[in-house]
Amino acid sequence: MEVFEKWESEIRGYSRMWPTVFTSASNARQVDEAGKSYVDFFAGAGVLNFGHNNERMKRAIIAFLEADGIAHSLDMATTVKRDFLSAFAEKILGPRGMTMRMQFMGPTGSNAVEAALKLARRVTGRQDVVAFTHGFHGMTLGSLALTANDYFRNAAGVPLEHVVRLPFETAPGGGVRALDDYRALLADGSSGLKPPAAFVVETVQAEGGVHVANGEWLRAVQQLARDVDALFVIDEIQVGCGRTGSYFSFDGMDLDPDIVCLAKGIGGFGTPLAMNLVKPEHDARWSPGEHTGTFRGQGLSFVAGREALTYFDDDEFLAQVRAKGETMAGALRTIAQDSGHGFDVRGKGMIQGLDLGDGALAKAVTTACFEAGLLVCPCGTGGRVLKLIPPLTIGDDDLAEGLEILAFAVRATT
Ligand code: PMP
Repeated sequence: MEVFEKWESEIRGYSRMWPTVFTSASNARQVDEAGKSYVDFFAGAGVLNFGHNNERMKRAIIAFLEADGIAHSLDMATTVKRDFLSAFAEKILGPRGMTMRMQFMGPTGSNAVEAALKLARRVTGRQDVVAFTHGFHGMTLGSLALTANDYFRNAAGVPLEHVVRLPFETAPGGGVRALDDYRALLADGSSGLKPPAAFVVETVQAEGGVHVANGEWLRAVQQLARDVDALFVIDEIQVGCGRTGSYFSFDGMDLDPDIVCLAKGIGGFGTPLAMNLVKPEHDARWSPGEHTGTFRGQGLSFVAGREALTYFDDDEFLAQVRAKGETMAGALRTIAQDSGHGFDVRGKGMIQGLDLGDGALAKAVTTACFEAGLLVCPCGTGGRVLKLIPPLTIGDDDLAEGLEILAFAVRATT
């Protein structure tokens, strides 16, 4: 604790939620300086889909470093970049019949969203962008404008502009009326609304409180985007790369986005990498070097990301993700039922949320979890939802232990 008191006054940027100093980690466990081991249901905010210090990636990274591989290459061509791109095209795009171009955007998810916004404006010559209630798309000015969270938005000091916010829909058959109203307003010259450059949506809102979009509604959003000649952008940054039980969260949903934003899990090891998939006709709108940046060629990210793709060589890994997701959802439903409070449980695959209805309660449960050896993070409005996003590679024993700790913490706190 001493170190936290010192840091409180001297340093910004440490977690007040987990007041300890961590030293090492392996798969779904993190160990602190005191030697206490924690089950990790946070996974670096959804980055460590393949666990801490994933053995396959670690071996590949060590071999790469020993061979004096190029760790930083910006936009230069390197063998590791080529290997990653060919593997992504072969294993992910090819089997889905996707002809999208791969653009490296920088290290962070916000970079990817920012680039998608620029490109959509360039393609359409329009300024407004449609985003949805409870959405989270990043912290830079453009991506923050899309983020539906006043606490984060207020950090920018003044209101952010050019975003039309429509309601996100989870209920079957719902939400289409709001889309129809917006369509009618666009057609009505007296509304003052200009047609948008893009619609940007998550299929499962993660930071916003674990809300799973209704598929029919998502297809209606896509249709509206097509009808008004706007781009349909899916932000896969937190729920892509296997999290929901398929590689893309929108697999099998009859969606055909113009741009897909990827980051977090795509670098696999915690090594930063952000990539946009872009339909060729839009990709062609940028001349070489027009949108660029320094940290877009991380060799370690390509090596790790290439290894991550080997998990998707067949469906076995994703079948395990779906099964573990069921285990998580089942345990959460039992916790909710036993509590007698009717807490809401929602999620898809290995992103599951327990809505405790109250931020103070969620904070108390988070603290009780931490003390009992589980790292879990609140999200959503007022921080009232516990978001469970363990590494997809978590072993059954660690998963069971984490869920038991959570059950204990909820019992002890409510
Ligand atoms: N989009 C989504 C869906 C996210 O969850 C996040 C990060 N939580 C971002 C964008 C922004 O990513 P980054 O923090 O890497 O900028």
